[in-house]
Amino acid sequence: MDEKILVVEDEKDIARMLDYNLKKEGYRTVLAYEGASAPLLAAKERPRLIILDLMLPGLDGLEVCRRIKFDAKTASIPIIMLTARSEESDKLVGLELGADDYVTKPFSVKELLARVKAVLRRAAAAAETPEIYRAGDLELDCSRVLALVRGKPLELTAREFELLKALMAAGGKMLSRETILDKVWGMDAALEVETRTVDVHIGTLRKKLKAEGKRIVTVKNYGYRFEK
Ligand code: CA
Repeated sequence: MDEKILVVEDEKDIARMLDYNLKKEGYRTVLAYEGASAPLLAAKERPRLIILDLMLPGLDGLEVCRRIKFDAKTASIPIIMLTARSEESDKLVGLELGADDYVTKPFSVKELLARVKAVLRRAAAAAETPEIYRAGDLELDCSRVLALVRGKPLELTAREFELLKALMAAGGKMLSRETILDKVWGMDAALEVETRTVDVHIGTLRKKLKAEGKRIVTVKNYGYRFEK
């Protein structure tokens, strides 16, 4: 695995316990016992993940989080915050600053390791997905959730946006109605949503895309594909 994790924690017992358990799981670790050195260490070591305690001597966890997220070199590194129950409001500030998750002390090692795995998995998936898809005059900016034609934003519903994204992300591959339902409707698909729903949404999406709508090609008795 060989993924490096930076642990910023002043309580040596907790830091040592994290160090031991992360290594046991196959991660490499870098430890910092105070906040001031953490942003520099993050920039130098480029860890895949940072576990950051909020209550730290000197520079506190929130300030560390702010500096890491404001530095382009480290902004994309996910952060899991460790908070005490009394720091509930700090937790919210931390999430607003861009921390990815938090774990409340006292925590179980098992829970923390599960969070670590989940955050790393999400980060890997995000890194694989390009942020912007383009075809002709159409541009789909996933990070801003915007669909543009010749730079002008289209008014798409969230579902239409996800539908267009699924089609464009497939890179010309045919998608069956069932696959589209699964990707775009997911859990909501349950039993009530019929495959015909896909056709209805495709229809409105095509209309909104105007000339670019022709790129959504119907594959008879199967589904759809997006033509670049
Ligand atoms: Ca602490």
